[in-house]
Amino acid sequence: MERLIDLGVLPIRMKGARGYKPHFSILFRFECQRTFGIDTSYSPNVEQNLLITHAHSDHYGNSAMLSPKSIASEKTAKALEIRHGRRFMGRTFKAGEVIDIDGVKVRTHPTEHTIGAMAFSWKNEVGTRILITGDVKDATHLPKCDVLITEANYGDPLDPGCRFEDDIEGFRTAIGEGVAFGAYAFGKAQRAVELLRRFGYCDEIEMERKSLELSKQLMEGAEPLVGLGENGGKMSVVPPWELCRLPDRLDKFVLTGREDYPHKRIRISDHLDFIGLRKMVKQCSPEMTIVYHPTGDMSAKFAQYLNENGFSAMTVGDITNVISA
Ligand SMILES: [Zn+2]
Repeated sequence: MERLIDLGVLPIRMKGARGYKPHFSILFRFECQRTFGIDTSYSPNVEQNLLITHAHSDHYGNSAMLSPKSIASEKTAKALEIRHGRRFMGRTFKAGEVIDIDGVKVRTHPTEHTIGAMAFSWKNEVGTRILITGDVKDATHLPKCDVLITEANYGDPLDPGCRFEDDIEGFRTAIGEGVAFGAYAFGKAQRAVELLRRFGYCDEIEMERKSLELSKQLMEGAEPLVGLGENGGKMSVVPPWELCRLPDRLDKFVLTGREDYPHKRIRISDHLDFIGLRKMVKQCSPEMTIVYHPTGDMSAKFAQYLNENGFSAMTVGDITNVISA
């Protein structure tokens, strides 16, 4: 914590009547004091810019999008609007664009976790380079930094489930007539469509309503896409729990790292595994890492691994500065 103060960065947690707000905010100086909320929820009585890394609900864009001071990529904002049926009230930017947030020049970097998923980086008044990644699938575009704020969805070095490679070949060989893939409506479903097109499948893909709308509006080169049952079930992409509702004659696969579905599984993840996370930290070479997502055990285990292997790291649980919101 002292090291962060030397670097001119103060992490804080906001606490309301119902407990802590999600994730955390950082205070830093740039001409005057600035507060940037990181994947946190909107409180009308808190004056802060809200950075939204992507449109998954555990990053709270559904709440932050109500703030005129929220910031998200154009595609993240669009995805939030489709998913939650309301207008994005903040400002948007194109992938890779440099944006001015109250005089601070903030760079944006795609992380390929979902369509529109973006990391943010900037320098504070004393030249400390701060990088917030959100969830990461591809760290190639992330810059070096002094303070890294990142995820650890697969951060346990001792858990074999945290070491994997995507089974792209398994996906390719599963493609055929009468196949249904189970994939979450935002993220995996678009990955499934992208892979199908990459492997030359050019017939209609049937999709569940939300997946269809998200894919049609956010993807290029994805068509033809149609609603469920509109092409005789030749190729479908539906949320995993809806596979059971499709006819038994279909060959069903779930795209997941989990093992608790009653269908064949193809390991395709939207995240880096432990090896990838470790490589990302080395590449970014921070003086301090704050592991902020998911809350709990996985982040603590990754922070502990970093502390034991030549890096300094902490989790949101280690943040002692609390203000009421
Ligand atoms: Zn996510």
